Amino acid sequence: MIDGSQHAGTLEPPAVGSPESIPDEALRTELAALVETQVTIEPLPEPTDLADGRTIRKTARKVAPPPATTRLLVRRQKTETTVIVDGRGLARRHVTGDAVAVQIGGWRAATGQPSWALAGWNPVPKILFTAELDRWQAAIAAVGGFALLGVRNGEEPPVWHRIGDDRVEDLHRGALGALVRGPNTLTSVIAMPAGARLHGPVIVRAELLERRVSYHHSEAEAGNAIVSAAEALALLTPDTPPTAPHAENTLLPQLVTELLRLVDGHGFGQSWVRIGQRVEETWRLLSGHTITTGYDVPGGTVQGHLLDAVTGRPLRSAYACRAHHLVDLVSRCATCRTDTCAACHDSVRPCVLCTGGVCAGCLADADGRCTACAALKKVGMFRRSRFGASITDAVWHGTGPNVEVTVRRVKDAWFLDRCENNEQVTTPLAGETLMSVQRLLR
Ligand SMILES: [Zn+2]
Ligand SMILES: [Zn+2]
Ligand SMILES: [Zn+2]
Repeated sequence: MIDGSQHAGTLEPPAVGSPESIPDEALRTELAALVETQVTIEPLPEPTDLADGRTIRKTARKVAPPPATTRLLVRRQKTETTVIVDGRGLARRHVTGDAVAVQIGGWRAATGQPSWALAGWNPVPKILFTAELDRWQAAIAAVGGFALLGVRNGEEPPVWHRIGDDRVEDLHRGALGALVRGPNTLTSVIAMPAGARLHGPVIVRAELLERRVSYHHSEAEAGNAIVSAAEALALLTPDTPPTAPHAENTLLPQLVTELLRLVDGHGFGQSWVRIGQRVEETWRLLSGHTITTGYDVPGGTVQGHLLDAVTGRPLRSAYACRAHHLVDLVSRCATCRTDTCAACHDSVRPCVLCTGGVCAGCLADADGRCTACAALKKVGMFRRSRFGASITDAVWHGTGPNVEVTVRRVKDAWFLDRCENNEQVTTPLAGETLMSVQRLLR
C-alpha cells in the first residue's frame, strides 16, 4: 500500500473455452438468483377471440425460434476500502475496479489530550500529533524520544506501534522527571548513594538499635548521567515503575522514518538530580531513654553527619545531653551528675564559690552557689582538727549531693578543698578570688 500501487479487476474478458471462461458455482448461483428475482417479462401474452385467431393464422408465418442458449459475459468488479497510516496522517483508499480514491485525515499538532491515548502510561506522555478520519483516530504519543503510534477504530481499544525501538531510557528519564520536576521533563542522575558503604555518625555512650534508609533527590547542575534513570526510580518509587502501552514493532522502516520526523523536537525539558539517602536511626542512651536521629547522606558520598545543636556544625560523633540535644561537647553537673549543653536552658555553669560545674536545677540560691557551697557552715573548735586546722585557724564546711566543699584559713593562708567523686582538689585562695569567697562566707 505504501508505494501507492493498487489494482482491482480487469476489463478484458477471458478467452472462450479457457478455464476462466467457465463460471464458478458461486457465480452461477448469483446469476440464477438475479434472473429469478429481478427479471420480469412484460407484457405477458393474452388469449385473443376466435375470429381474430383465424385471421392471425392466415397471416402468420413460421418464425424461427430464438436460439436456446446465449453467451453471457460477466465481470466481477471488486471494491475495497482500506484505512492506513502514513506520513500524511490517516489515509482511506477506496478501490472500485481500476479507480482508486484516497481521502486523508492529516496529522495535526495535538491541541487536546485524548484520554484513550493516555491510558497505560507512566509518566503521562505528550500527545504530539493526532489525526481523524471517520471513525478512525490516530495519535503519536511520546516521552522524549520514546514514541508510539496509537490507532483506534471507534470505541475499540487502541493498537500501539513502536516508532523506533531504542529510546526506552527516555521513558525512564521522563518518569523520573515527572517525579522530581513535573511533566514533560527528562531527568538524568549525576550522583547516587554508595549503597551498603554508609558510615553513620556515632552517639557516644549509646547503642544503635535500628537504622532506616530512604532516598531523596536534589536538583543539580547539568552533568554526565552516571546511572540509568531506571535504577534511580527503583530506589525512589519501587512500586510505580515506568510503563507504556504494549506496542508492536512492526511498522515498515519507511513509515518509521516519516513518523520520526514528526517526533523530533518533542519539546521536553532536561534536568539533572543527585539521589541521596535519608537515614533515620533509633539509639538507646545510657539513661535508658531512646532517641531518634535523622540525617541526609548526599549522593556520591558515604559519611553521615549529625548537626551540632549549638553550632550547627556537622559531627561524625556526638554526645547527647540530658535534654537529648546532640552536640560535640557536654558539661556535667557535679551535683546531679547529668550532662547539659549550651543549647539547654538549664545548662551547667561554674559555681560562684567553688567553681565546680552546677546546672540551673541544682543551684541552691540566687547568687549562684552549688548545694555544697550554699551549705557552708563554720566548723566548731573541736572538729577543726579533722580538717588539719589548729584551734586558732578557721574552717567552713558544706556538703551537697556528690560534692563536699571546705574553706580553710590556716594562719594567714586560705585554701579551698573541693571533693567530688572521691577526688579532692585543693586550691589556694588569694586576691580577688579570696575576697569574693570571704564575701560569700558572711
Ligand atoms: Zn544538676
Ligand atoms: Zn542540651
Ligand atoms: Zn560550689
